[in-house]
Amino acid sequence: MDDCIFCKIARKEIGKLVYEDDTAAAFDDLNPRAPTHVLIIPKKHIEQLAALLPEDAALIGHIMEVANAIAAQKSIASSGYRVVVNNGRAAGQSVDHLHFHLIGGRALGWPPG
Ligand code: AMP
Repeated sequence: MDDCIFCKIARKEIGKLVYEDDTAAAFDDLNPRAPTHVLIIPKKHIEQLAALLPEDAALIGHIMEVANAIAAQKSIASSGYRVVVNNGRAAGQSVDHLHFHLIGGRALGWPPG
């Protein structure tokens, strides 16, 4: 998608990736909510979690593996971390390209607001 900010980051037109492979990319959140706040995205433009197709199942499983690997690399694997998707405006989704927030490095409250 030409106008999608996260597609532009995935294409390395703007920003800086902290991880990339054939199907996924990751970068630090512009407005971090915790010492570690990384966004992991599919390179393929998917608007939101609810738009997933059955054929995306392996891609999403792969992104969970990437989240675990980044958590280990950031040394938050043993202290604990959270992987969050906001689906839709009422849930807080503000960018219409599916992204998984990897958040950690501090104690996290529950439930989220
Ligand atoms: P959400 O509100 O769940 O859609 O999350 C969108 C996230 O993207 C927010 O945490 C923003 O801070 C972050 N964000 C928006 N634009 C950028 C950008 N250009 N680079 C990195 N993070 C961004």
